[in-house]
Amino acid sequence: MRIPGCAWVRFRLTRPDLPRAKTFRVTFRNGQWHIAFAVIPEPIGASGTGGVIGVDRGVRITAALSDGRKLNCPQLTVRERAQIRKHQRRAARTPKGSERKRAEHGQVAKLKARDASRCKDWCEKTSTMLARSYDLVRFEKLNIKNMTASAKGTIEQPGRNVRAKAGLNRAILAQGWGLLRRRTQEKAPGRVEDVPAQYTSLRCSACGWIEKNSRKSQAEFVCVSCGFSCNADENAAHNVAAGQGGIPRPRRTAGAGGVTVTTSRSSAREPQPARVGIPLLRKRGRMSRRTVP
Ligand SMILES: [Zn+2]
Repeated sequence: MRIPGCAWVRFRLTRPDLPRAKTFRVTFRNGQWHIAFAVIPEPIGASGTGGVIGVDRGVRITAALSDGRKLNCPQLTVRERAQIRKHQRRAARTPKGSERKRAEHGQVAKLKARDASRCKDWCEKTSTMLARSYDLVRFEKLNIKNMTASAKGTIEQPGRNVRAKAGLNRAILAQGWGLLRRRTQEKAPGRVEDVPAQYTSLRCSACGWIEKNSRKSQAEFVCVSCGFSCNADENAAHNVAAGQGGIPRPRRTAGAGGVTVTTSRSSAREPQPARVGIPLLRKRGRMSRRTVP
């Protein structure tokens, strides 16, 4: 490739043949040079089988599909996380503006870039697979921006469990939910739908009953109405595939003999994101001061 103002450069082709591109971009990041040719690929054609797939995105399982498959976005390994911490620690102990500090920060950036490109690769492969094998892909509608809002609050009213929420936010953002949805949409235009996310994890995919008690645990779903049991994420993916969720059904209460909308808010509610219990210690000082004369 002849780059104007530079010279002839060699590069490794990562595609079977040369792209028919008019423009290109050369980037240098984390010690690696890349050349990217700007080509808008043809959208992937529908499989024509009429297959509908529901994708339920979660933290434990990145994407649970309604056909029972559970796909996971690769995360940093324990060893890599330890390496990141090691280099951050070393950087903190070096003098300000030193060459050593720069080198340690470079090591951290390299590991984080590896994580990011691994995640991106997974999203690309998974979205291509979804666009290729199914006619219609349904995602539950998530507002990732609102979901990952910080819990820190203000100085006057500090939030609770701030560190736990920050950890959950990091876990949510590490899943690449947004990228998976966006790339599937770009590869299969007009074949991606959003389904309202309310109650998809509480609704029984067999009989449609919505109840909080059906969700036994993080992984287990047993319908209290019909006894249908399934993996909780798979059950949610079935609901997403069916385009169901939404409003809780009015239910028949014993004795009333008619259809009444329950006003109780105990059931038919989304499970709240994991509440990590940090018991608030009572301030013993104030108590004892009051009792001791
Ligand atoms: Zn049921």
